[in-house]
Amino acid sequence: MRTIEHWIGGKLTAGAATRRGAVWNPATGQQQAEVVLGGADDVDEAVRTAKAAFVEWSQSSLSRRAKVLFSFRELVNRRMDELAEVISDEHGKVVSDARGEVQRGLEVVEFACGIPHLLKGDFSDQVSTGVDTYSFREPLGVVAGITPFNFPVMVPMWMHPIAIACGNTFVLKPSERDPSASLLVAQLWAEAGLPDGVFNVVHGDKESVDALLDHPDVAAVSFVGSTPIARYIHERGTASGKRVQALGGAKNHAIVLPDADVDYASDHLVAAAFGSAGERCMAISATVAVGDAGEALLEAVSAKAAAVKVGPGRDASSEMGPVVTSAARDRIVGFIDSGERQGARIAVDGRGLVVPGYEDGFFVGPTVVDAVTPEMDVYREEIFGPVLSVLRADTVDEAIALINANPYGNGTAIFTSSGEAARRFQRGVQVGMIGINVPIPVPMAYYSFGGWKDSLFGDKHVHGPEGISFYTRAKVVTSRWPHVSHPAGASYHFPTMH
Ligand code: NAD
Repeated sequence: MRTIEHWIGGKLTAGAATRRGAVWNPATGQQQAEVVLGGADDVDEAVRTAKAAFVEWSQSSLSRRAKVLFSFRELVNRRMDELAEVISDEHGKVVSDARGEVQRGLEVVEFACGIPHLLKGDFSDQVSTGVDTYSFREPLGVVAGITPFNFPVMVPMWMHPIAIACGNTFVLKPSERDPSASLLVAQLWAEAGLPDGVFNVVHGDKESVDALLDHPDVAAVSFVGSTPIARYIHERGTASGKRVQALGGAKNHAIVLPDADVDYASDHLVAAAFGSAGERCMAISATVAVGDAGEALLEAVSAKAAAVKVGPGRDASSEMGPVVTSAARDRIVGFIDSGERQGARIAVDGRGLVVPGYEDGFFVGPTVVDAVTPEMDVYREEIFGPVLSVLRADTVDEAIALINANPYGNGTAIFTSSGEAARRFQRGVQVGMIGINVPIPVPMAYYSFGGWKDSLFGDKHVHGPEGISFYTRAKVVTSRWPHVSHPAGASYHFPTMH
């Protein structure tokens, strides 16, 4: 059985801890590897290594950092197919989707290549006679990233390229369910010329996460995962004095107005609900049909859901792969059962799907649940699977109120041909990322990504300008270079500008 090890100080190591976790192939349902589950000693080793590397890396010139980033960019681009296959084998998503994930991560690397420009400070000449004021930003030290299973390359890349470009050193604790991609990324950083110890990977679960949260030499923590854990990470990390950004779960609504093009809207809805088997934090899991949009929409969505080709991620003809584990599959099926029990109508049923040749795989077919009401568990909980709930509202304002009553606020979308309705929607919803006729409005790398309410704890979104701000702190300098002939004598009153 292959063992997946930590990456500390530029090399693989099994570390001190003896616990191991199973890594599955979701398409076959077979265990394919075991991953070392690090403990406090392994975390301490990684943080001490990163702290030592910070001494040199934080002093490296902007040109040198940009050069390493450009090399890393080339390597990720060149090895995209390999990265996508590693993702698919452990996560289950189809390879073309995994390639898209790597591409979106690569865009953050490209943003970080502009670090000399991004770290420019401000300068105010002559704020007082002979006095200038200017600011610049410095790295924090050792920063940590704790990431979910659903984007094993992209989500860590929301963090480490920017943190490292800013001069920090990084410890990544990736998901224990699909840990291999992080090691390939670590190799690419090394090949790109990043000094040993600047990027490290410690595998594990709660034990290693807690050790990072409590470690006095970790200055900041970026987390992406489910809401209960995000809340916990924020509370525990800030309690020990760290900067924390913790992105949580989601329940993303798409509202469809009667003036929308039903064919266009239903194509995008099924792609957003069932792509990556619904295991995306920006997946659309609830659609709200407004007015008389309902019947035509349900019919179109159901037909398209039933036609999705489900199969192993490595099969180029598959449009949707399995879910990540058997536990995830059972949980998803449990929610569909509960919807049925609580009075919803299962319009398309993905329970019990068997893929020939992959009978033991963790498959759930696309599922459409109609007549869903806000009290049902299928609506209240984040299912994180290929399940689309259909709700009804009489007006746009009623649909907006429904979205705002939901505790999550990650993404949302409206399908309409009315600019007025779209504008009312964008101003009215309490949600961080909004799509207008765009179902998955993930901001480009040069904007920042993040939700509102229970979808984010902390005040900074990830990547883009807020990422630069999160991984640095500012100094503001007020300087005077007195002319040698200035009038002699110190003044003891409080300094005021004149
Ligand atoms: P998860 O919360 O179970 O795990 C995330 C990370 O936290 C993993 O590294 C895991 O090892 C660690 N962890 C798990 N339990 C822990 C505990 N009790 N104490 C400390 N650490 C713990 O999430 P997941 O199942 O890997 O990913 C799916 C979730 O992530 C969904 O809720 C999804 O919405 C969310 N997500 C959010 C975003 C976003 O941008 N808001 C993006 C991707 C995924």
